[in-house]
Amino acid sequence: MSEEQANEFDVVIIGAGPGGYVCAIRAAQLGMRVACIDKRGAPGGTCLNIGCIPSKALLHASEVYSELEHAGDMGIKLGSVKLDLNAMMTYKQEGIDGNTKGVEFLLKKNKVDEIRGAATITAADTVDVELLDGGKRQLKAKHIIIATGSEVSPLPGLEVDEDMIVSSTGALELKKVPKHLLVVGAGVIGLELGSVWKRLGAEVTVVEYLDRVTPGVDAELAKQFERVLKKQGLNFKLGFKVTGADIQKSGVKVTIRKSDDSGKDETISCDRVLVATGRRPHTQGLGLDAVGVKLDERGRVHTDGHFATNVKGIYAIGDVIAGPMLAHKAEEEGVALAELLAGKPGHVDYNLVPGVIYTAPEVAWVGKSEEELKADGVTYKVGKFPFMANGRAKVNRVTDGFVKILADKETDLVLGVHIIGPQAGELIAEMAVAMEFSASSEDIARTCHAHPTLSEAVKEAALAVEERALHM
Ligand code: FAD
Repeated sequence: MSEEQANEFDVVIIGAGPGGYVCAIRAAQLGMRVACIDKRGAPGGTCLNIGCIPSKALLHASEVYSELEHAGDMGIKLGSVKLDLNAMMTYKQEGIDGNTKGVEFLLKKNKVDEIRGAATITAADTVDVELLDGGKRQLKAKHIIIATGSEVSPLPGLEVDEDMIVSSTGALELKKVPKHLLVVGAGVIGLELGSVWKRLGAEVTVVEYLDRVTPGVDAELAKQFERVLKKQGLNFKLGFKVTGADIQKSGVKVTIRKSDDSGKDETISCDRVLVATGRRPHTQGLGLDAVGVKLDERGRVHTDGHFATNVKGIYAIGDVIAGPMLAHKAEEEGVALAELLAGKPGHVDYNLVPGVIYTAPEVAWVGKSEEELKADGVTYKVGKFPFMANGRAKVNRVTDGFVKILADKETDLVLGVHIIGPQAGELIAEMAVAMEFSASSEDIARTCHAHPTLSEAVKEAALAVEERALHM
């Protein structure tokens, strides 16, 4: 193959996160010649390197640590349980490496040209790459896909230095357990990482602008979640905003004020601050202005229903476009776009993208919340079942939480499922499948669920829609 031929592709994808690398694999499976570029030293994007995977490694390890402290209740006698944070960080890194190596292998297996370097789009069919190990490459493509993901949004007055004031990236790498960690933002990332450091021994205070945790999540679920986290010892300052932070030798003095500006300023002294107020699309340095790719009002790459930007031949998927910033949403979009480019009917059902918070208990949902149904004027029935009444949850002593199923009052079609409880993130998959097949609550209620499993709580919630739960 000549040098020119080696640089000619059907598809060039910028970003090897879950959107980009999955799209690359699917496009290659469909017979296209594909290049996937990332400026990071390893594929996998935010998700594998500084997001989903490392946070789940620390959530798992810290949960085991806190469970071991109560092992005596199960008749398991241990000596004193000690934390070796360095070793826990090594465990986390091994998890990251195992996963990124796996992606490297898959790209190779599918004959995707994995290129490491910073990419700029210089024309609708051209991508220039500054290679990480020196040198440049110019690629020609029939289709260019922007899959550059997102980055931490800065918060005015709180400059992240990844030492005293950290983003999620720094919070995954703290060298020692802070005595007092202040988390700004009671969203998914703030509460997951706050839980990690709480379990490892920190006092954790969460400051949130709104008067509730996890905005967007079904309000009843969020209220129960807040109660459980408080019971676990997390402190909350809801309805407060951070107005400043003074870094001192001994720590950080953070000033907060009621969100509506009433009352006096309060100060909180802590060792470290985690800013977890959101992420913004990563569009810098890509040359989008030069080629004329339009952004929307929130700085995301504007796309039509088929991921096409306003410039012919350039597409975008994942965190960099509208929709929930979730790895599985990015993956679905990657697959759908590859299939569309191959002339197939690729499609993503945005109503059925599940959400999961990987705390203990977990929180998971799919479909509409009660607030959304009310806003849409839909009449619905509610079936609820507490884990307290589920045999498996009882014997495992993980009884916090419930399953809530929302079904259309007239047709019984399941419209939303909301779970807080053990393994909620696994349980929600059954409901996503059921809803994808337009299940009614009756369908779920009449499906035989194995005993004793946590999934029986899902069946009982479905029975409860018609007020015929058996174990309540
Ligand atoms: P990304 O994964 O962000 O990948 C984009 C890649 O593009 C990056 O590697 C970047 O280096 C590269 N890039 C950018 N610009 C260029 C350029 N010019 N040239 C070359 N390369 C470039 N989601 C979940 O679903 N579940 C979770 O449990 C979860 N946990 C999370 C925990 C944390 C702490 C964080 C921060 C995020 C978490 N997320 C989670 C969100 C998830 O990581 C993102 O939704 C997902 O990674 C988005 O995928 P993507 O492919 O769109 O972009």
